[in-house]
Amino acid sequence: MLKRQKTFFTNCSKLYIVGVPIGNFDDISIRAIQTLQMVDLIYCEDTRVTQKLLNYLHISKPLKSYHTFNENELTNMLIEQIKMGKNIAIVSDAGMPIISDPGFVAVRQAIQDEIDVVVIPGPSAFVTALVGSGISSNRIVFTGFLNSNDNKRKKELENLKDIEETLILYESPHRIKETLEMLKELMPNRYMCLARELTKQYEEYLHGTPAEILNLIDEIKGEIVLIIEGATRKEINEELNSGSIEDHMKYYLTKGLDEKNAMKMVAKDREVSKSQIYQYLKKK
Ligand code: SAM
Repeated sequence: MLKRQKTFFTNCSKLYIVGVPIGNFDDISIRAIQTLQMVDLIYCEDTRVTQKLLNYLHISKPLKSYHTFNENELTNMLIEQIKMGKNIAIVSDAGMPIISDPGFVAVRQAIQDEIDVVVIPGPSAFVTALVGSGISSNRIVFTGFLNSNDNKRKKELENLKDIEETLILYESPHRIKETLEMLKELMPNRYMCLARELTKQYEEYLHGTPAEILNLIDEIKGEIVLIIEGATRKEINEELNSGSIEDHMKYYLTKGLDEKNAMKMVAKDREVSKSQIYQYLKKK
């Protein structure tokens, strides 16, 4: 059933999703401060981290620990508190809630229960990195963190290798070396940007190929976002054309093309006739 929310036309209590800085407290917005001053209760990840921000802002509010592991459990309580007339804010340790952070379950539930959800926009590490990367933002794929298991992460990167959109990843400093090694193997000539410690004292952008960035691996510490230029059609074609016709066909079949159209595409990429591809596959 359609649900319609007109945020500024109701006086009822609401759920506020408040963006907070990603490392520099001075990036907090005036509206975020006003909201944190106004709400009755703040649900946050690590109460010590949020308390530091509140101390900086001279705000005193009750905090409730709300993280990935108790999100499902505590959401009903949060929703009940709003229904009883309390205004509640959700904040993350850094950046926008829900972006690789908790909050999604509460927003879904609030919409379902016709509770107003008000987002107070703030910084997000991936948007900041993308803007500074010099890489196209026209079409993007944001994956957040990939799997922490090396083999699974490699598989995920293999699946993402051919996408033409700009790829955005969050990565931990403990795994960045292995991830860059994988990228060096899978997309050696791809231009990328490693952005680290954004808005903080050691903020740095490294622009180059995976191998060039790997040369500085010992200096790459802190919080990291990787922005990877999308694959070009030329690059994809070169790789497909250098492989077998069967793999080439499989590529298009897994993209959802039927056999006839896949053959047509393979023939086009290889600059041969469709019947040549057909004859080759028939002999197999
Ligand atoms: N909610 C956050 C946001 O809106 O960006 C993201 C939270 S996620 C749990 C934490 C990851 O975000 C870090 O491991 C890092 O990849 C990225 N990140 C957060 N702050 C950053 C910063 N100041 N510089 C670079 N990356 C950052």
